[in-house]
Amino acid sequence: MTFLNQKYLTLTPYTPGEQVDEQEYIKLNTNESPYVPAPGVQEAVAEASQKLNRYSDIAVEVVAKPLAQYLGVKQEQLFLGNGSDEVLSYIFQGFTEKGIAFPDVTYGFYQVYSGLYQVDATVVSLNEDFSLDLKEYDELKGTVIFANPNAPTGIYLSQEGICEFLERHPDRLVVVDEAYIDFGGKSMVSLIDQYKNLLVVGTFSKSRQLAGARLGFGVGNTELIADLNRLRFSLNPYNVNSLTQAAGGAVLQEQAYVDQKIQETIQVREWSKQELTKLGFEQTDSQGNFLFAKHPKLAGETLFHALREKKILVRWFNQPRTKDYLRITVGTQEQMERLIAVLTTILEGVDA
Ligand SMILES: *Cc1c(COP(=O)(O)O)cnc(C)c1O
Repeated sequence: MTFLNQKYLTLTPYTPGEQVDEQEYIKLNTNESPYVPAPGVQEAVAEASQKLNRYSDIAVEVVAKPLAQYLGVKQEQLFLGNGSDEVLSYIFQGFTEKGIAFPDVTYGFYQVYSGLYQVDATVVSLNEDFSLDLKEYDELKGTVIFANPNAPTGIYLSQEGICEFLERHPDRLVVVDEAYIDFGGKSMVSLIDQYKNLLVVGTFSKSRQLAGARLGFGVGNTELIADLNRLRFSLNPYNVNSLTQAAGGAVLQEQAYVDQKIQETIQVREWSKQELTKLGFEQTDSQGNFLFAKHPKLAGETLFHALREKKILVRWFNQPRTKDYLRITVGTQEQMERLIAVLTTILEGVDA
């Protein structure tokens, strides 16, 4: 017996990566930052906790003002959400009347939200090498969404092709999910004045150490943002709670710390890529804070379980095109050295 509305009975929800005891496991499975938040964050949150009796600021001024300045946009061109997942949710709910299209190998929530909002979704196969060709979206209708760099592949699509698509289709909305842009590539944010059909989505979860705070944003022309706010004020105007606002405001005052951790992650990523190659892994050229790798001698599932037994958690997607691969979040240098050592042992066992 169920009380759930009929139309939701076939929903397939998102499968989040496991959250585990970090005393026991090295956690490389959800693309969080391995580093603690910037020094000022804790204090700001503690202070904000004194005022939890009051509703949070609906304008999210403490974040919006410095973030708009950092991005070089007007505050009216900025929308803040409870994680970028919430921003994406509003996009799927509100901007998909003519359908939406996205790649077959990408962020799992696009499919989930299509199901939730019963959107007419077209899934377009990436090329054999997982690269994205926007020309394949030319003949379709409606909104286009993709992650850049893409997840779980880490492949970055240069701006040129995106701009050409935006120009060919001024009446179609193009959503670029830039969750990983700080780790490689050039943000499209600077082009929102030029393209009224461009909406860029970003997050504080990956490069700003605030995955648990849930803070994401959308950047686009004022009409797009006003429409997002129309949806938000029809659901939950207080979507960004006051502790998160304080954390987000504080982290924007600590850009030097954030930048240093980004550089560290990029260095560790490139080191790890080299080491994996030495071990015989094949990889995409990931520009994210994660690696996407497969080994010719061991199935993805086997490797996933072998690593888990050694208390290292990575992500394995049981899907036809990606089942040979592991997505490995870039941890600290020490964590990645441990990963390489464990993989070396596992592979020695195979060669024997
Ligand atoms: C992690 C991720 C998100 C979600 O980020 P939150 O802001 O934590 O909700 C969105 N898009 C992509 C591609 C991601 O990898």
